Amino acid sequence: MIDFNIAPYVGTEETYIRQAIEKRKLCGDGTFTKKCSDWMKEQFRVNQVFLTTSCTHALEMAAILADIQKGDEVIMPSYTFVSTADAFVQRGAKIVFVDIRPDTMNINENLIEAAITERTRAIVPVHYAGVGCDMDSINALAKKYNLKVVEDAAQGFDAYYKGIPLGTIGDFGCLSFHETKNLTMGEGGALMFQDTAYQEKAEIIREKGTNRSKFFRGQIDKYTWVGYGSSYLPSDMNAAYLWAQLESCKTIQDDRMNTWNYYYKHLKPLADSGKVELPTIPDYAQHNAHMFYLKLKDLETRSWFISYLSEKGIMAVFHYIPLHISPAGKKFGRFHGEDVYTTRESERLVRLPLYYGISEKNLAYVVKTIYEFFELKH
Ligand SMILES: *Cc1c(COP(=O)(O)O)cnc(C)c1O
Repeated sequence: MIDFNIAPYVGTEETYIRQAIEKRKLCGDGTFTKKCSDWMKEQFRVNQVFLTTSCTHALEMAAILADIQKGDEVIMPSYTFVSTADAFVQRGAKIVFVDIRPDTMNINENLIEAAITERTRAIVPVHYAGVGCDMDSINALAKKYNLKVVEDAAQGFDAYYKGIPLGTIGDFGCLSFHETKNLTMGEGGALMFQDTAYQEKAEIIREKGTNRSKFFRGQIDKYTWVGYGSSYLPSDMNAAYLWAQLESCKTIQDDRMNTWNYYYKHLKPLADSGKVELPTIPDYAQHNAHMFYLKLKDLETRSWFISYLSEKGIMAVFHYIPLHISPAGKKFGRFHGEDVYTTRESERLVRLPLYYGISEKNLAYVVKTIYEFFELKH
């Protein structure tokens, strides 16, 4: 059986987790949390990095920092994970979905302006598959209409737009370290931003509404409840796992990129003969091999394809039923304009197994099986 995903593991995780345990300091913001956020600050040239319990929670923090209020509108693609919308729905916002571009599956930057109303407060680009959205256009619109930009960079760790790390281009950026992402800590994420003016508020929100962070820095002599907050700090044990992964970041990313390139090279002839479509990487984007997907003719072909691979012991999956056709999406959102690509493209897309350490033997078998499918049936 070839799994679709296996959580990355490099071998140094236990050592660091043991160190965290031996210190008897297991709560949030310990040594490993600091190591991880410092690493990201340096690597991504960003002023503020807060490790969180998930990307969902990083998005929630961003929605609070962006001061999203009841009745505000937030623009995002419908082709995304539920958390992108949930974080803003929690603040009482109305979600306005716009169509995607078929080449990258990202929000179509040319359709955003028409969806802006007097109530619009934020745009939430999702960097699907670690391929950047057209951030120059999005930031220009945000500037013109005085909107906040919250990047859902859950899949965008160590991927770049014109050389700038995803998650550091808008007002706020949110990463995920869920076990299905390139690097992991089991469950976890990070909130990043450049504007230091948000630092204190972010600390308070993350620390249950208290100024405990200031207290720990010795800036005040007791801490107290100063505003709204929740508990968004991960345990230092989880951060220890992530630290092992960050230290081996290049190894993990190179391995994934080799897999991605292997698929691309070996499936290119199928694309040239019109049987499948392969992912497009725009010139401005440097992706991170987060996923490798194919697009097939239609929904029916995709169902055959997935069950054929499954019979042969290969797990291939699809995801994201467009949010605007889900029950909650109908309740909390509306689609602006026409759904030309969101539903159609989402029905054709299938993801192939891709994880750190997948063997070339397994990759060859996946490719061979895909060719078999097209010889037999199409
Ligand atoms: C994985 C993912 C999330 C959620 O990340 P968690 O860390 O599991 O909360 C949000 N948005 C997108 C696009 C994702 O892929």
